[in-house]
Amino acid sequence: MQVIQSTKLANVCYDIRGPVLEEAMRREAAGHRILKLNIGNPAPFGFECPPEILEDLLRTAGTAHGYGDSKGILPARRAVMQHYQTQGIDLDVEDVFLGNGVSELIQMSMQALLNDGDEVLIPAPDYPLWTAAVSLAGGTPVHYRCDEQADWMPDLDDIERRITDRTRALVVINPNNPTGAVYDAEMMRGLTDIARRHGLVVCSDEIYDKILYDDAVHAPTATYAPDLLVLTFNGLSKAYRVAGYRSGWLAVCGPKQDARSYLEGLTILANMRLCANVPAQHIVATALGGRQSIKDLILPGGRLLVQRDTAYELLTQIPGVTCVKPKGALYAFPRLDPKVHKIEDDARFVLDLLRAENILLVQGTGFNWPRPDHFRIVTLLEKDGLADAITRIGTFLDGYRQR
Ligand code: PLP
Repeated sequence: MQVIQSTKLANVCYDIRGPVLEEAMRREAAGHRILKLNIGNPAPFGFECPPEILEDLLRTAGTAHGYGDSKGILPARRAVMQHYQTQGIDLDVEDVFLGNGVSELIQMSMQALLNDGDEVLIPAPDYPLWTAAVSLAGGTPVHYRCDEQADWMPDLDDIERRITDRTRALVVINPNNPTGAVYDAEMMRGLTDIARRHGLVVCSDEIYDKILYDDAVHAPTATYAPDLLVLTFNGLSKAYRVAGYRSGWLAVCGPKQDARSYLEGLTILANMRLCANVPAQHIVATALGGRQSIKDLILPGGRLLVQRDTAYELLTQIPGVTCVKPKGALYAFPRLDPKVHKIEDDARFVLDLLRAENILLVQGTGFNWPRPDHFRIVTLLEKDGLADAITRIGTFLDGYRQR
């Protein structure tokens, strides 16, 4: 008997862990050492868990092995609430949901919001979980253009043009994965103004909010629009380098009186998954309240900043490669000029690179970018290793040069 996957999965795609990764794992099993520059997972690159977080996790793990409250343990929800309250956002402890990473909460938020055919505006390029989660929830992802010529800023006119009477929500990923763009106050006002005029829920993915370079600043989207329902997503995976602990939260900000039914829906879904990993919730207050050790990594001389600079400088030295300098997050998203490089299928290009150099990247189309002319590289590898990898990518690209 053949067992066939449900049709619900027909349009669900998450290429960051797609077929190219499967090939990488096969090669690894065959004895090759693969340089995995495909996933924003700080730990394997030698980034340690901040000691106070580890200490609290170990201390609570022995006693926190029972189920917890399905929305999240109270001290964690309170810490998240206070974190936003100190930034001027009106929030009640009941408006906070803890999750097994932001990923789980993104999926729950879309399941609770969308009816079949409802449309959600998502940036292109995107973090593809958003597109996948909308599709799985029966919705229709509608991609709006981010403009590479304008440092990857969202094209507000394009967003406006794509709004229909089925549009329910606008996704904003800031700082952005994969482009590294960080939106200024004017852009935030432009985005929230569109949501206001069209009655859209704003889904604000702020998981890189503390990973900022140069003069970039970030404020939660909810501070720009206290009058709008802003679903604010964040967690510990990136800024606290503990992606494997699976610790994230969703703060429902704005006029809750209009969202009672939605909050009830979210609560049903939270109840169904029983609870999020409990020990990982015990570290939320420690993380948010303590010294922000990420600063050591992003200020001048800091490892992440040095690596961002190395990646940017070396990528842009490759003939036919341009790159908008990332202002935040852990990635670069360079462009391969089609006049210089003949790449018709970027998944094939990434696969060929893997087979030739044992370097794993993700193709640009994996981020719902419409053309095969980009790739994403994570900037987590230490400077010398990163420089060597980019030099090898450049040499490999030579084989694609139009002669
Ligand atoms: N949102 C963005 C923009 C991400 O880049 C990622 C992970 O790479 C996530 C969410 C998922 O984060 P988590 O580890 O909290 O599930």
